[in-house]
Amino acid sequence: MPTFLLVNDDGYFSPGINALKEALKLLGRVVVVAPDRNLSGVGHSLTFTKPLKMRKIDTDFYAVIDGTPADCVHLGYRVILKGKKPDLVLSGINEGPNLGEDITYSGTVSGAMEGRILGIPSIAFSAFGKDNIMFDEIAKVCLEIVKKVLKGGLPEDTYLNVNIPNLRFEEIKGYMITRQGKRAYKEKVFKYLDPYGKPFYWIAAEEFGWHAQDGTDYWAVMNGYVSITPLGLDLTNYDSMRKIEYLKDSL
Ligand code: MN
Repeated sequence: MPTFLLVNDDGYFSPGINALKEALKLLGRVVVVAPDRNLSGVGHSLTFTKPLKMRKIDTDFYAVIDGTPADCVHLGYRVILKGKKPDLVLSGINEGPNLGEDITYSGTVSGAMEGRILGIPSIAFSAFGKDNIMFDEIAKVCLEIVKKVLKGGLPEDTYLNVNIPNLRFEEIKGYMITRQGKRAYKEKVFKYLDPYGKPFYWIAAEEFGWHAQDGTDYWAVMNGYVSITPLGLDLTNYDSMRKIEYLKDSL
C-alpha cells in the first residue's frame, strides 16, 4: 500500500487539498501536512529564522503554524513519517492555475520541488479555473495520474507540474505533455492612502493572460486538455553558456 505526503499552499482547510486527500485514500495512506493559512505566492521559501509548531487536526492530518509548503514537506517527511520516504509527494489541488513563469512564485509547485530535492518523486496539481472549481472532478484526474506514475515512475530529478481544466471528468479531452509557456500580463503596483494619509502599496495583476503557443501548458488547458509539464531542479540556461564565454576574457 503506497504512502503519500500531501501538502499545499492554500491552507489545510482548502477544498482542493481535501478533495485530493479523499481521492488518494482509495489508493493508500495519505499524510497531510499543510500551512494553517493561505500562502499562495510564497514560492519556495523555507523557514530558517524562527521555530515551527504543528497542530494535529485529525489522524495523519496536521497544520503547520505559519509554515510554508516547503516547511510542510520537511516536517511531514522528517517528523510525521520519521524519515521514511513516502512513495510520492503531492501538492495541491491549487485553487487556480500555475502556468508559465508563474510557477516561480508558486507555493504549490515549490511543494513538489522540495519533495524532488529530498529525493522523492513529486507532483504539483492546480485547477485551471477561477470560480466554482469542481475539485471532486479534478481529483479524479489527479488519481489517474498518480496511478500511472506509481506504475511508470518518473525520470531522475524530474517533478511534474500538472494543470487541470475545470471540467467534468468525462469532458476532459485528454492528457498533453507540455512545455512551460509565457505569460502575457504584468503585475501593477497600486498606491492608496491609509486612514492617516500615509501611502501603502498593493502589487496585483489586473487581468490574467498567456501567450497561447502550441505545445505550452496554457495551450493545453485552454483547449480542454490536462497539461503535464516535466520540471527539473537545474535552472542553468545551457544555450547561454557559450554565449557568455566573453566574460572570461580580460578587457
Ligand atoms: Mn495557492
